[in-house]
Amino acid sequence: MKLHGLNIPVKSGKDGAPEIPEATGSCLCGAVHYSVHAPLDKNVRPCHCTQCRKQSGHHAAYVQVERWDGVRIEGEDNVTWYHASDLARRGFCKTCGSQLFWVPDPEKTGRITGDVTGGTLDTPTGVKFAAHIFVADKGDYYDITDGLPQHDTYPDEG
Ligand SMILES: [Zn+2]
Ligand SMILES: [Zn+2]
Repeated sequence: MKLHGLNIPVKSGKDGAPEIPEATGSCLCGAVHYSVHAPLDKNVRPCHCTQCRKQSGHHAAYVQVERWDGVRIEGEDNVTWYHASDLARRGFCKTCGSQLFWVPDPEKTGRITGDVTGGTLDTPTGVKFAAHIFVADKGDYYDITDGLPQHDTYPDEG
């Protein structure tokens, strides 16, 4: 079976049925496609930190995937990985520049999650903005007026 727009081989589930991805996405030029085979966090937290602003050109909208090993990338040769810090790497298409992935280092952070960008997900995405984060570092050229919660850094989720 071939997925819509994807050449990624589809693994069969336990019952032999094709495994349907939670989501699919691609970069602007189409050199990189990905499919998500792990739960997605439906709550997107737009990030206004300096790293995200400088990389994306505005603010970033990352969608967290529960397990990064559940994300399959086709055309990974076209992904450039940039380490903005030693805690995480950011993947973007080396041809068109699409910002695609944010992946924390599991050994240094204890996290096995990874993020994909909301803008590269195929629609309907099924996810929604929930709260703004790192608002203390936001650009001075825009206001956040959507009424959603705003956090100076990352919300304390307890
Ligand atoms: Zn591209
Ligand atoms: Zn950020």
